[in-house]
Amino acid sequence: MSRIHVLPRAVAERIAAGEVADRPASVVKELIENSLDAGARTIAVEVEGVGLRLIRVSDDGEGIRPEDVPLAFERFATSKITRLEDLSTTRSFGFRGEALPSIAAVSRLTLTTRVPGEAVGVRAVAVGGTIESLTPHGSPPGTTVEVTRLFFNTPARLKFLRSLAREQALIAEVVQRAAMASPDVAFHLTLDGREAGWWPRGAAADRVADLLSGGRSGDLIPVGGGIPGGTMTGWLGRPERSRPNRTGQHLFVNRRPIQSPMLRRAVEQGYAQLLPVGRLPIFAVYLDVDPATVDVNVHPRKLEVRFRDEGHLFAAVARITRQGLLASPLIRQVAEVPPRQASLAASLAEPPGLADASLPLFPGTREAPETYSTRTGRLPALRALGQVLLAYIAADGPDGLYLIDQHAAHERVLYERILAARRRGGVHSQTLAVPLALELTPAQMTLVVGCQDMLAELGYAVESFGARTVLLRAVPAVANAAEADALLRRVVGALADDEARDDVLERLSIATACHTAIRAGDRLTGEAIETLLADLAATDDPYTCFHGRPTIVRVSRQQLEQWFLRS
Ligand code: ADP
Ligand code: MG
Repeated sequence: MSRIHVLPRAVAERIAAGEVADRPASVVKELIENSLDAGARTIAVEVEGVGLRLIRVSDDGEGIRPEDVPLAFERFATSKITRLEDLSTTRSFGFRGEALPSIAAVSRLTLTTRVPGEAVGVRAVAVGGTIESLTPHGSPPGTTVEVTRLFFNTPARLKFLRSLAREQALIAEVVQRAAMASPDVAFHLTLDGREAGWWPRGAAADRVADLLSGGRSGDLIPVGGGIPGGTMTGWLGRPERSRPNRTGQHLFVNRRPIQSPMLRRAVEQGYAQLLPVGRLPIFAVYLDVDPATVDVNVHPRKLEVRFRDEGHLFAAVARITRQGLLASPLIRQVAEVPPRQASLAASLAEPPGLADASLPLFPGTREAPETYSTRTGRLPALRALGQVLLAYIAADGPDGLYLIDQHAAHERVLYERILAARRRGGVHSQTLAVPLALELTPAQMTLVVGCQDMLAELGYAVESFGARTVLLRAVPAVANAAEADALLRRVVGALADDEARDDVLERLSIATACHTAIRAGDRLTGEAIETLLADLAATDDPYTCFHGRPTIVRVSRQQLEQWFLRS
């Protein structure tokens, strides 16, 4: 255990200072971090009256020596660093020596502590930052900090707390994030005398499943890999667990919960096209990196960090996310809810468990009879049964009934073909028997002429023919030449869409695939169905179309049995 000392002024002044005790949730966060820095194995957090009546954080950590206790109440007194250079090697949460004095200044703070192995400990009481008493005290080893009358002398801060319900939620969130960040530490949360959370020491996977997914570990995909200066470990929510907001996104760097738009975007990029527009993934991603490659001293409450090698880190996180997602079978399961309960389930804010962890998605193909088509690739062996509503293909497969959206599936197939052709240097085109003259607006003319090269790369041959007319001589080989007119109009529409987030070539590829694909309402021969399923199985991502909608869903045997009341 290091002794507490006051940092030299020059060191203290270069540490990002700020108000650490601005709200009850921040106080809880600082006290938990002190307990973690003290090597606690168990941390109990009790909160009453949204932290204004009481915040008590108790730990079984290394304690503070009696003679050091007064120092702990002084600004810039810390046991964690001595020199500024230490910042690049320290893995501790604290290093500014600010939290205890800042909290003590705006409350009545009682600190009770005993160093394990010492016979007695000490209790200090400070009011408004002034130590009023310091007495020997018999207490269990470890430290308890009790904060009452928070903000009694700063009414402005009290007023600033507009919504107490929101503050209570923030407090719970702080504890939950800390619990997620340190699964090897037990956490106990009591709110107004009621047990609100109890997380025993355990494996990170269990704690993440508990906090992110209500215990359903099957909804999470574990990923991991090397990143610049360290490693990444993560649990990614399956696409169907996406949310309309970012509430389920958790990032940790060296066990510190952090906010980082850059890292969030990297993970979201890994999900590209696996989610419908407007939906965001849930995840818990942990980076363990050399402290020298990350600066935690950029934000007063250390919520943000700065990385030395942002570009490479971004790429690595996006790649690990992508690979993990594509390596796992992402066929969606129809909700395991009998029809009688379906309306009830629909009224719940959170969807019921979509994937049943106890049911492997591909329970081996040994059950598949000889008649099953044998397909390699990323789909199980399926035996097509026919079309439903001229829009879906029904298929019998391992442990259930599979439904495939014919348009979405074909879009995926065509899109990947176009991508592959682009990578090889250009999409094959077919020359139209009679060139087609199309009338365009001046704005559309400008766009088409400006994008001629890109259009050529995708197999289109277009040239201007007068001020308002273009001549279409060729379309991609995959397209239906009979619809060349509508196809080009679609492509021009995609060019003009300035809301789009994708780059132009990407938009053109998508528009081409989307317009060319089989539609709902198209009648398919048995042969066409077989070809489509085989082609889909051969894609890199057969589970979603590029709009993020599913291409295939499974109704499990268990689900069928529930429907027919056989279980
Ligand atoms: P910092 O965490 O930045 O060092 P704080 O003001 O939060 O500053 O704490 C001051 C010092 O008090 C710490 O450096 C540490 O030595 C001691 N301390 C605070 N809380 C605890 C605790 N729960 N257990 C042991 N020591 C503690
Ligand atoms: Mg601290």
